[in-house]
Amino acid sequence: MENHHKVIIIGSGPAGLTAAIYTARANFTPLVFEGIQPGGQLTITTEVENYPGFPEGIMGPELMDLFRKQAEKFNAKTLFQDVSKVDFSKRPFTVYSNEQEYLADTVIIATGASAKWLGLLSEKEFMGHGVSGCATCDGFFFKGLEVVVVGGGDTAIEEATFLTKFASKVTIIHRRDQLRASKIMQQRAFNNPKIFFLWNSEVVEILGKTESGKKSVVGVKVKNIKTGELTTQRTDGYFVGIGHQPNTKIFTGQLKMNPSGYIITKSCSTNTSVPGVFAAGDVADPTYRQAITAAGSGCAAAIDAERFLES
Ligand code: FAD
Ligand code: NAP
Repeated sequence: MENHHKVIIIGSGPAGLTAAIYTARANFTPLVFEGIQPGGQLTITTEVENYPGFPEGIMGPELMDLFRKQAEKFNAKTLFQDVSKVDFSKRPFTVYSNEQEYLADTVIIATGASAKWLGLLSEKEFMGHGVSGCATCDGFFFKGLEVVVVGGGDTAIEEATFLTKFASKVTIIHRRDQLRASKIMQQRAFNNPKIFFLWNSEVVEILGKTESGKKSVVGVKVKNIKTGELTTQRTDGYFVGIGHQPNTKIFTGQLKMNPSGYIITKSCSTNTSVPGVFAAGDVADPTYRQAITAAGSGCAAAIDAERFLES
């Protein structure tokens, strides 16, 4: 059957495309569903400095183009489509996309993770009008302006550092008095004269205005967690950098997941709770969440799938 595949890969970040390189090279002609973010999270970042093999660093989108080229060289097929539903209750498995059914002997899930939001109504109200989840995409619009970044991990620090290329002042608002980010990133932020910190603080509302039908952000209402004091911080832009949640909604009820929604894999393997379904990368990794670890587990998933098919 034309739509029956030995390996279907869902996701095209470092995990999915590495699984594609390995399964394609093993002659399984995998079908890769790229989803709404072809190339995954690294396509929204600038320079990647810690991916081995690129001592001078490499731009995230360029790195992912190289991954895709390498997979296609060995005959992986890619579709720029989202998977809307799966049925892992019987074999072959069924994967649904664009109202079509695709059958698979094995499925490798590499759907990664997406940016989290605080969940404020005002985030939605001013989204795209001063509220952003991607400094790389929107930083340019804040030339000479002031912005705030919420979060204390690598994402927040990276976003803040990147934003100093455009903004006149960047204030990191963090709910604790210590950053979670790696030491080298922390040091970069502490040494940057444009970056300021608001510790033990949480944003409770984004303040904006509408003039001539045009919405814009003018400030944020901030609560000091220790004292409860509410203050207003002037800002032209609000960036959120508080982490990511695994993209596992379509697998709910089909696979075992932890309370945060990460797919549980059996120790020292990429096996999920359903034999023949494998998970790789951030979707199954609440701990490391790096491009290299995602690529590494994509390789492991491909080898696990290959052994499953051969047995
Ligand atoms: P992702 O890269 O998240 O890819 C997920 C893929 O799944 C996407 O292609 C998406 O389209 C697809 N998908 C999702 N749902 C569906 C669906 N329903 N149907 C079909 N496809 C679907 N790590 C580093 O090592 N170095 C860095 O410098 C670095 N910088 C980063 C900068 C930023 C701003 C961010 C957000 C992360 C950064 N990371 C970095 C972390 C790194 O990007 C991730 O660990 C890595 O991309 C995870 O790879 P992945 O393949 O698991 O998933
Ligand atoms: P993270 O490490 O989980 O950090 C999330 C940050 O946001 C934490 O500081 C957390 O505060 C804060 N936070 C979470 N929920 C919040 C809420 N509701 N309100 C306010 N603050 C909240 O996530 P990440 O920074 O996105 O990093 C994820 C992974 O990607 C990490 O492994 C990281 O190393 C990697 N990454 C690497 C790079 C790089 O190497 N260049 C760049 C980006 C990301 P607490 O600290 O209080 O928990």
